[in-house]
Amino acid sequence: MTEARLAALRGLLAEARLDAVLVSEPVDVRYLSGFRGEDTILIVSADRALIASDPRFWAQITLEAPDFELVRVEQGATLFADALAAWTAVDGGPPERLSLGFQGDGLSYTTHRLVRRHFKGRLRDLGARVAALRLVKDAGEIERLRAASAMADAALRRVLDRGLAGRTETEVAWAIQSAVHDQGAEDVAFPTIVAGGPNGALPHAIPGERVIASGDLVVIDMGARHEGYHSDITRTVAVRHAGDEQRRVYDVVLRAQLAGLAAAGGGVSCVAADAAARRMIDEAGYGPLFGHGTGHGVGLEIHEQPRLARDARGRLEPGMTVTVEPGVYLEGRFGVRIEDTVLVTPAGGEPLTGFPKELLVVD
Ligand code: ZN
Ligand code: ZN
Repeated sequence: MTEARLAALRGLLAEARLDAVLVSEPVDVRYLSGFRGEDTILIVSADRALIASDPRFWAQITLEAPDFELVRVEQGATLFADALAAWTAVDGGPPERLSLGFQGDGLSYTTHRLVRRHFKGRLRDLGARVAALRLVKDAGEIERLRAASAMADAALRRVLDRGLAGRTETEVAWAIQSAVHDQGAEDVAFPTIVAGGPNGALPHAIPGERVIASGDLVVIDMGARHEGYHSDITRTVAVRHAGDEQRRVYDVVLRAQLAGLAAAGGGVSCVAADAAARRMIDEAGYGPLFGHGTGHGVGLEIHEQPRLARDARGRLEPGMTVTVEPGVYLEGRFGVRIEDTVLVTPAGGEPLTGFPKELLVVD
């Protein structure tokens, strides 16, 4: 696994005509080396793979990233300096002739200055190109995403079966998080959103003390994390009954979500996948009330590339995993969002989360 991933990173190295790549984002360190800790960096050249860390992690690195050459550094400011010294000392020649790619998207200004001070060669910002190696998932990753999705489905089912009326949003959010844990997840994918009535009109609502009442639409956005991989699902349910307008808006969002799902196939541009969902909402006259993108990549990070949005770049490829999550938000009244975690296939999007999508009326 690590071998194929390192080969891909080395392909990037060759393409960018660099002597080595400095990997500093923990999620990419994990993806490329298998090491799951923090404050650890990689320097990968054509023939070496260094991992630099402090004593807190040495034993863990020996277990999780045995193929890497461990650079033992003191905790703190010496990490980048020592790692660079370990690389340039062996790779020889005048250091000013060497070139090094780095992850500009995540490196702080202070750290960049530190690297500049300790590396006299050519530095090149690779932006998101290292993270892009994670775009297309392998079979093992898809398996983990499937499992994380099944855990979210089951947890949601369990909590909805108990009913929502009379419970506060916070109470329901905690019940969901506990149910996710009971399903065997290592953690929730992100803090659960439970937003009833007018709170549902806030796309990123924070659960509060509002008591869920009969006639509310409740937006529930939740997920599970399994072996590092995240699922992300939103369902909007009605409590005891739903009014005509609520049903109308729900149907519009459902049609948009199904259209987005069908469109999310290999070769389709991210803009076109967004547009497929957005068109349904536009045509129903709710366009201005759908203020976010249709979806985002999901994997080792809950939000990663690609984005499905009007200003997105690139195309979907089979094996990518994204969310499809259109919504309509009527300020001060209610909101509807429906979201699945989706595997991009040649034929369209295959939802990994499988909770039913017809409007569910719960107690
Ligand atoms: Zn979500
Ligand atoms: Zn999402």
